[in-house]
Amino acid sequence: MSDDSAVQRTLVLLKPDAVARGLTGRVLARFDDALLKIVAARMVWMDAELTRQHYFDLEERFGPEVYNLMARFMQSGPVIALVLEGIGAVPCARKIVGSTYPDQAAPGTIRGDFAHMSRAYANASGLPVANLVHASGNATEAEREIGVWFTKAELFDYPCAAQRFTS
Ligand code: ADP
Repeated sequence: MSDDSAVQRTLVLLKPDAVARGLTGRVLARFDDALLKIVAARMVWMDAELTRQHYFDLEERFGPEVYNLMARFMQSGPVIALVLEGIGAVPCARKIVGSTYPDQAAPGTIRGDFAHMSRAYANASGLPVANLVHASGNATEAEREIGVWFTKAELFDYPCAAQRFTS
């Protein structure tokens, strides 16, 4: 699972802005289109504890202000948590999602197509960077995050049409 050239699983969250804006279907379609297979899915309204578990190092990386902004944002409405599977699913999902700051995210990516917030504007205005989707940054992160969101019994093994073209 730690080899980006092998079949991997990655954690994706449709953040509260994606759900509230009614973009769930369009965002999910991007992953479906790339033949990433959904092996787990759940709608969750995050609480303080789950936020801390998921973003365990965010406060250390960005400081308490950004952490608190993000925590409030992530708890402002339900999120949809998914585990996606495919060859190099971790880098593949990141490529589909695009760069962290939507103003820098390329057209064709979810963040580039559905938002335009910049880091500077967010920081100057006390806003969270609402960028629609989370996708695990690397294979180690993916393994940890999948464990935070799902039990082993909630991860499904099933055949899908894509496998005709990927195995
Ligand atoms: P990514 O989600 O692309 O892996 P990070 O792990 O660096 O990016 O950041 C986690 C999330 O925190 C980002 O997706 C974004 O929603 C939010 N964020 C990052 N930087 C800032 C910031 N300066 N101000 C507000 N929110 C931020």
